This record gives sequence, C-alpha cells and structure tokens, in this order.
Amino acid sequence: MSECIFCKIAAKEIPAQILYEDDVMMAFHDVAPQAPVHILMISKKHIISLDDCKKEDEELLGKMLNKVKEIAKSAGMENGYRLVINCGEDGMQTVQHLHFHLLGKRKMTWPPG
Ligand code: AMP
Repeated sequence: MSECIFCKIAAKEIPAQILYEDDVMMAFHDVAPQAPVHILMISKKHIISLDDCKKEDEELLGKMLNKVKEIAKSAGMENGYRLVINCGEDGMQTVQHLHFHLLGKRKMTWPPG
C-alpha cells in the first residue's frame, strides 16, 4: 500500500492539484487529461478496484457518487459530464486504487474506446 501513488497523494506525500477533500475522499486533476477538465476522485482508503469493494464500503461509495455533481458544478461542467470507473485488465485500470474519472467541458462520444 505504501507504494500506491494515490495513497501517496491522499497522504500529501506527492503533490496534486487538489479540488476537494474530506475525511473519506479526495478529488484532484488528472496529470494526463483526456478532456478539457479531467478530475480523479479517489477514496482515501486503499481499495484496489470496484471489484474489491465490500459491504462495509457501501457508505463510502454512496458518498463519493453523491459528491460527483458538486465537484462537476464547481469545475464548470454545467452542461453535463462523464463518470468512468475502469476496473481490472479489460477495463484498462492502470492505478490499483479505487478512483472515478470525472470528464467534462467537451462533447463525449459513444461507444467509448
Ligand atoms: P486508470 O487507467 O483508470 O487506472 O486511471 C489512472 C489515472 O491516473 C490516469 O488517467 C493517469 O493519468 C492518472 N494519474 C497517474 N498518476 C497521477 C498523478 N500522480 N497525479 C494525477 N493523476 C495521475
């Protein structure tokens, strides 16, 4: 866990452009944005992926999901946004710590790549 980059960001051991933080989550700008605004929302608790969430994490997941609209609005996404959770190998998850991608300020396409 100590080698986890998102744990290090949560612990402020490495810098990030933080937009929001509370006791259970943090939101910061992605270093390699895929949209004009690309925010990552992470749990402070080290959970590897959505697949690894347990019953005890339901409250945390609910809080994170319910916070999306507030962060989106504060980042200027009045016209909508896309929320993405990559999970596992086929989902192309590259950082093994639960996170939501919040993307906006451009028209998205469907299907995703
Ligand atoms: P995923 O591929 O879904 O696991 O997403 C991981 C995301 O983390 C990618 O979009 C990366 O650009 C982003 N990322 C990796 N390291 C950092 C970092 N130090 N600060 C901000 N974003 C990062």
